[in-house]
Amino acid sequence: MDFEAFFKSELDGLHKEGRYRVFADLERHRGNFPRATRHTADGPKEVTVWCSNDYLGMGQHPAVIQAMKDAIDHCGAGAGGTRNISGTNHYHVVLERELADLHAKEDALIFNSGYMSNWASLGTLGQKIPGLIIFSDAFNHASMIEGIRYAKCERVIWKHNDLNDLEAKLAAADPKAPKLIAFESVYSMDGDIAPIKEICDLADKYGAMTYLDEVHAVGMYGPRGGGIAEREGLMDRVTIIEGTLAKSFGVMGGYIAASTALCDFIRSFASGFIFTTSLPPALAAGAIASIRHLKNSPFERVRHQDRVKKLRVMLDQQGIPHMHNPSHIVPVMVGDAAKCKWISDILLDTCGIYVQPINYPTVPRKTERLRITPTPLHTDADIEHLVGSLHQLWARCALARHVA
Ligand SMILES: *Cc1c(COP(=O)(O)O)cnc(C)c1O
Repeated sequence: MDFEAFFKSELDGLHKEGRYRVFADLERHRGNFPRATRHTADGPKEVTVWCSNDYLGMGQHPAVIQAMKDAIDHCGAGAGGTRNISGTNHYHVVLERELADLHAKEDALIFNSGYMSNWASLGTLGQKIPGLIIFSDAFNHASMIEGIRYAKCERVIWKHNDLNDLEAKLAAADPKAPKLIAFESVYSMDGDIAPIKEICDLADKYGAMTYLDEVHAVGMYGPRGGGIAEREGLMDRVTIIEGTLAKSFGVMGGYIAASTALCDFIRSFASGFIFTTSLPPALAAGAIASIRHLKNSPFERVRHQDRVKKLRVMLDQQGIPHMHNPSHIVPVMVGDAAKCKWISDILLDTCGIYVQPINYPTVPRKTERLRITPTPLHTDADIEHLVGSLHQLWARCALARHVA
């Protein structure tokens, strides 16, 4: 086989469909989020980032940066091993306690990413619990889907956020089979929120465990940043809460929080936890500082919601269509892959605005969009510049407007 020709023809297919991914080559500026330098063939250019998952700017927070520096000065660079073989640093232990406390669970377990935490936890539960059926929301993240696939257990996909469909599927399954319902709180592309209480009610009725991905909510919702389940007083009803340290906490890593026995079970059986070097101590230290800060400071959360509201109001004033949802994610709908890419290229090249286009397969075809994520650090002037630029492009691109 001509391997090189094969790779190239597969890539050509992506180019033809307009969904070949081009990464923006960015240099973030310490303490100056959301500004960054973008490296291009024509030299460096300054941009304002409008699509970061560093939702609260904590990746540039002085307390987080200082904690990471101190940890490097104290412990050096790497962890030096897997958790089992010399790689459990005291910072990891403290971080797990901090996370258990955040979610009011007995224990927590950290992984090298949120992706790994979903993949390893769901995979291990599905492999090890005899006859387990996993009921998975149709819009679940790739990391959950891959984990369930790796589990090789029975899986049932229920319609996104549809309680009737979930109940019909639970009722149709063998009443004696152990069950787990896997879902997210805030969904990343549409920004809608699951009916957590009602799902927990169904879980109780049918004797199922619940697995809730709060990746897009931790740090940002709830009085201490424990997520939507904290805000709604439901943390004790969810069996396993999964989160990331990489989005609103601004660093890197993933985790689950659950009972002592469940965490110990995953710790003891999950390949994706056991056979990989643990996070560098400095990352754990940064995460601890970030979580502690957000537990005690509502400022970022309040300002975040204020910025989101301001952006939505201004988009509405210009009739620019965006999906209304109860979260901080503002999907501006374009509905065409080529136009979506064109708009984002012009914003980047001529307006200094960076918003990555979101195309198939991340979202369904015809729902291509600009996924805008305002942060507490975007100023009024930033928002005005963004909306003004979109207004001009909408006219040039002859895209439908909403008439208010
Ligand atoms: C980003 C994301 C993850 C993965 O988290 P990482 O820490 O980035 O690996 C998991 N679930 C959802 C819903 C996500 O959007």
